Amino acid sequence: MANFRTHLSIAAAGSLTATAVALQAAPLTQMEALLLFLLGLHAGLLPDIDSDHSIPTRLLFTIFSFATAIAVVFLCYAELSLLPLILLALLAALSVRFILFPLFAATTEHRGLFHSVPAALLSGMALFFAGDRLFGWQTEFAWLAAVFVSGGYLLHLLLDEIYSVNFIGVTVKGSFGTALTLFSRRSWLCYLLLYAAVAIAVWMAPPPTQLLTL
Ligand SMILES: [Zn+2]
Repeated sequence: MANFRTHLSIAAAGSLTATAVALQAAPLTQMEALLLFLLGLHAGLLPDIDSDHSIPTRLLFTIFSFATAIAVVFLCYAELSLLPLILLALLAALSVRFILFPLFAATTEHRGLFHSVPAALLSGMALFFAGDRLFGWQTEFAWLAAVFVSGGYLLHLLLDEIYSVNFIGVTVKGSFGTALTLFSRRSWLCYLLLYAAVAIAVWMAPPPTQLLTL
């Protein structure tokens, strides 16, 4: 698999290119473009969330905890005064780092479900619903953000796959190897549930009312 630095560089380059294309094609503000870039960048690192105790994973969770704190500040600054706002942001960041991370480490297997195509699609849909329902984004922007997340995620899987074939020479398992996995018979129930969740999410999501000229 590709290492953390490679993933970070490729995710940054890929997300920057996609942001430039989106800026040309859709009426985005600078803040929206920056948010899309950051989403694509994070999504390009997200699948390795399942490699317990590695430095990249710990770093990833530290980044996520900072991102969560920033998100809390953005979402709640209108309603809270400074001290409660800082305390809430701190609490959110610490929860990600010290509750969510150990939970993930205990329940995931490296290059298991997180390194799969349905997980990439589901991550995009999860972000879509967070944007649509929680952050009040316009439907078109929420879809665009979902594409950035799924795209960044898939780029990571593709990179892992290229590295496992070309540089390490690991025998690939199934038609898509161990990273860009479409289906695994060993965990068939999990895959079925993942695909069902993706299907339900797509079915429930409102379609973009105004087509982007991408
Ligand atoms: Zn990976």
